Amino acid sequence: MSNFTFNQIQELGHEQVVYCHDAATGLNAIIAIHDTTLGPALGGTRLWQYDSFDAATTDALRLSRGMTYKAAISGLHLGGGKAVIIGNPSMKNEMYWRRYGKFVNSLGGKYITAEDVNTNTADMEFINLETEHVTGKPEYSGGSGDPSPFTAYGTFVGMKACANKAWGSDSLENKKVMVQGAGSVGQYLVGHLLNAGAKVFICDINQDRIKQTVDKHSKVEVVAAADMLNVTFDIYAPCALGATINDDSLSKLKCQIIAGAANNQLEVEETHGRKLIEKGIIYAPDFLLNAGGLINVSAEIGYYNKDLVTSAVEKIYGRLQDCLSLAEAENITAQEAAMRMAKKRIADMKELKSRR
Ligand code: NAD
Repeated sequence: MSNFTFNQIQELGHEQVVYCHDAATGLNAIIAIHDTTLGPALGGTRLWQYDSFDAATTDALRLSRGMTYKAAISGLHLGGGKAVIIGNPSMKNEMYWRRYGKFVNSLGGKYITAEDVNTNTADMEFINLETEHVTGKPEYSGGSGDPSPFTAYGTFVGMKACANKAWGSDSLENKKVMVQGAGSVGQYLVGHLLNAGAKVFICDINQDRIKQTVDKHSKVEVVAAADMLNVTFDIYAPCALGATINDDSLSKLKCQIIAGAANNQLEVEETHGRKLIEKGIIYAPDFLLNAGGLINVSAEIGYYNKDLVTSAVEKIYGRLQDCLSLAEAENITAQEAAMRMAKKRIADMKELKSRR
């Protein structure tokens, strides 16, 4: 392990980072456990052709830390973890996943895995043959299935809390909403928005995704990805990539609310969070807003009930209201307010544990 990696682990405060290698299957995985104060570390397994070992480690460390705060702010009894596998989808087969499942199992439940980029519910089924510490299994095998509808629903519910703050009403009727990224989450979000009477615009760099969305929802209007920043909207919902809120986009963006599901939307958290305040834009912190999928898979650990999950996801509304109020009262960015809320819960639990 390089000094760079070890310094990062110390700086970000990880509890444990595990490197896994299996010559027979070609498996190379990094499991990062950031914080287990609130419970076992849950986070997906990402399969990606990283350019370097350091790049893969950095991703695992950064993503696992994000999971700690997402679980904490969502009131879950879970810590934050994430695994990355250096490889590509052509390597996937039963043996590959079973070997990986054995590594996950060797951690004795301290880390619970789930699906992420390039991994799916079928992969989780193979992992489940070797360990019970896996969520995101298909519905037919007792799992919670695709988390995207819950992520989209949580995003929609949080958007209404933002609308209330901006316009004094939850109603999204006739509001112009730009959904950037008509993928798994974006398409479900479009459905909720249309049902609420919003005027929905989509953009995506993938024409198949555009077609799928338009076929499903004939009322959506398509905007070319390159033109998105030239149009005025009430709400911008980033549901594609991270870092879309940056110096360039902020110099052009014309909207009153930003509320979307993409992870790590602010390119530089404090700088761009402050710029949003200066521009009078209400921002819904991504890790608070997009926790619906995590809330859904986490329910698999106990007794899974879709209605209970839906109610739990709806609590994003109140959490976002609290976050926006805290930000206003303390003159801090919404992102900072959300981080404070998450860190406070972890600190309170540490204090409680120290008194036992
Ligand atoms: P996805 O891959 O299904 O969809 C993303 C879409 O964005 C794709 O259609 C892609 O073509 C499009 N896209 C990429 N670059 C773009 C660009 N520059 N302009 C416009 N469109 C672009 O992913 P998803 O599962 O829908 O997730 C969307 C975002 O939400 C991701 O950032 C993801 O990390 C985050 N997220 C997803 C979940 C979940 O439950 N799926 C949970 C939490 C967070």
